[in-house]
Amino acid sequence: MIEDRYSRQVNFGKIGEDGQKKLMESTVVIIGLGALGTVCANNLCRAGVGHIKLIDRDYVEISNLQRQTLYDEVDVLNEKPKVMAAYDHLRRINSSVTVEPIIAHIGPVNIEEMIRNCDLVLDCTDNFETRYLINEACYKQRVPWIYCGAIGSNCMTMNIIPNQTPCFMCFAGEDDNLQNGDTCSTIGVLNMVTGIAASYQSAEAIKILLKSEDVRTTMLYMDIWDNATEYIEVMRNPHCPVCGENKFAHLRAGQSTSTSVLCGKNEIQVIPRNVWKPDFHQLSFALSNLGEVDYNQFVLTFQKDSFTIKLFGDGRALIKNAKDENHAIAIYTEFFGG
Ligand SMILES: [Zn+2]
Repeated sequence: MIEDRYSRQVNFGKIGEDGQKKLMESTVVIIGLGALGTVCANNLCRAGVGHIKLIDRDYVEISNLQRQTLYDEVDVLNEKPKVMAAYDHLRRINSSVTVEPIIAHIGPVNIEEMIRNCDLVLDCTDNFETRYLINEACYKQRVPWIYCGAIGSNCMTMNIIPNQTPCFMCFAGEDDNLQNGDTCSTIGVLNMVTGIAASYQSAEAIKILLKSEDVRTTMLYMDIWDNATEYIEVMRNPHCPVCGENKFAHLRAGQSTSTSVLCGKNEIQVIPRNVWKPDFHQLSFALSNLGEVDYNQFVLTFQKDSFTIKLFGDGRALIKNAKDENHAIAIYTEFFGG
């Protein structure tokens, strides 16, 4: 008999006791712990998915609380990395689930290792760059994944199962027109639409883990303001570079010092060319003559003039108030080398 905790789910005929056991033996990787990721993590943790790996590069801020349901004001005050805040909340919700928090930026160098041996990957990111990587890594390792995106009052989600469904590249293409430059910070996003999208995503996650015949094969599009729901048939592209020709251009892309402007804030992320593990204690000593510096086990914060740098344990930094991406690299190099 499976504990009382899951009785409502076990009594649901399409899951049952065998299904529940299967869920408890499953491993899911959630990439991105924002509006979609927090809802998915909450749903899957309560549903008893046995092992949940959380990956995110960011920390909790006040503008997150409108829709990122696992966080609260204490997390904002503590500037907690999102995965650590999520981990603390999830542990109190269901201690029988193993939650593995990983503070990292997903890139071509680490994604294949991050998803190895998992049963399913959930795309809860906000950018196409990462989705192309997820698509290639999952296709290579034959791991199913679920694409999901939400903005304004609309959302889109699709299950991508290697060798069964079209892949992400089949419909997005290389110079995709789905990516029109809008972000949640410029045109906003309703918390109801992220909640709905992520709930659909986690329902499909359960079905995929249980190898249900009812897994959705179409792309679901919904606009909760304009009252639209569409199920869109996506065709497989026989010349698709990924699922047609087994070419993994995004994974192969070399690692150089790179920057990206983060969705929703005045911050630029700098990822150095050379991987290094900063010694926060030593650095804070050196930087204390130049500006204000503070650190905890996860992040070192350095404030000088008008900009603020947050340096993480993997050598990556978020720089607030840099003029542009080149300025951000210059600031990074000035204080940390590279
Ligand atoms: Zn394809």
